[in-house]
Amino acid sequence: MNRNDSVISVEEALKKILSRVQVLSSEKKPLLECLGQVIAENVHAGFDVPSHDNSAMDGYAVTAESIRGAHSKAPVVLRIVGEVAAGSIPSLKVESGTAIRIMTGAFIPDGADAVVPYEETDEIERRKEKTLNNQVGIRVSLPAGSNIRRRGEDITSGQLVLKKGRVLGPADIGVLASLGKSLIEVIRRPVVGILATGDEVVDIVQPLPKGKIYNSNSYSLAAEVIKCGGVPTLLGIAGDNLKQLKSTMLSGIDCDLLITSGGVSMGDYDIVREVLAAEGKEDFWTVRMKPGKPLAFGMLKRTDGAKIPHLGLPGNPVGSMVTFEVFARPAILRMMGKTDLTKPNIQAVMEDAVTNRDERRIFARVVVTRKNGKFFARTTGPQGSGILSSMIKANGLAIVPENINEVKAGDTVDVMMLDDAVNC
Ligand code: AMP
Ligand code: MG
Repeated sequence: MNRNDSVISVEEALKKILSRVQVLSSEKKPLLECLGQVIAENVHAGFDVPSHDNSAMDGYAVTAESIRGAHSKAPVVLRIVGEVAAGSIPSLKVESGTAIRIMTGAFIPDGADAVVPYEETDEIERRKEKTLNNQVGIRVSLPAGSNIRRRGEDITSGQLVLKKGRVLGPADIGVLASLGKSLIEVIRRPVVGILATGDEVVDIVQPLPKGKIYNSNSYSLAAEVIKCGGVPTLLGIAGDNLKQLKSTMLSGIDCDLLITSGGVSMGDYDIVREVLAAEGKEDFWTVRMKPGKPLAFGMLKRTDGAKIPHLGLPGNPVGSMVTFEVFARPAILRMMGKTDLTKPNIQAVMEDAVTNRDERRIFARVVVTRKNGKFFARTTGPQGSGILSSMIKANGLAIVPENINEVKAGDTVDVMMLDDAVNC
């Protein structure tokens, strides 16, 4: 068996994992499905946006010259020769002394070089008095160009609008739509196989037999995968026997990353490592961290020769979630072509103490609050790695370095925030 039993640091473990994962191939996808993905093409505008001069207001298209000197006490009266709605092409021209009613977004008629908003005309009074009669009084003098959105003022034809490598957000999706792009080349989402292990673990759809527990790990991990942009495939639960585990692990190998939970600690039934060693190569086992020390990583070999990264996360529900955050999430983001692999990191003043007995890096579940612009962190309570409900309370993981025996109340610590933004 090819085993490496030395405990390594969080940094070493992450480095090894990232060195084994590749940016995935790209694919063309419908625009809206690309949110949060990395664009794999440079997008140039095929035309000007807007494609024609259009009105920024509801009002009257005029020539600036014909309303020169207009004032609320001395309105200039123009003859209304027509109307142009958004989406239609005006057939009439504006000349000196005439105006065309125009709606926001409508094509500016030939001859017009300014739009006077309704509020700056006497249209409402004339309507009330029924004296509109194809005439309108203009109460302001406006320079040429007023209230006209120029052709190409947003984007000019040929312009590089989005660069390869950018993560698409809602504004990018909107801009791509404004350019009529319905299919976009993006780096595909990784498919992540998730397999639970353990004779005591049963699926949530059945009544809970005595002595068993529900499979929470597969669900928390699948939710994590979705949250960071991957596609989870639930591979079920493998019992604690080598044959069954091996066949389920290998049946789920048609994915970009295989995550198992459980079966990697020192216990008699911790056989995930045996399969990894027999069907591939283990890169490391055990990381100097808490929770999450028993963590195996290596490459599994498929029958077609391809190698698939396999992360064997601990079975304890908190350990599996924390190790997902620290190791699986960056790996998934890297596969998606992302370069920012870290969660927001802040510094906070601890409100209670955390002791570190065995020189591991502690990721303590904390509630971070902000008071007068300063962050404070207090632990969620008991830190047992089976206490999954503590993860509901936590919005961050306070990091106690391996060389520090105790963090006291009042000490400043780094906190890895669990949300993608610092919301507190
Ligand atoms: P193991 O790493 O397999 O020794 O498991 C460590 C602890 O995590 C044990 O108490 C298991 O019962 C628990 N555990 C393992 N797998 C799961 C799971 N899928 N869902 C919830 N708890 C689990
Ligand atoms: Mg187990």
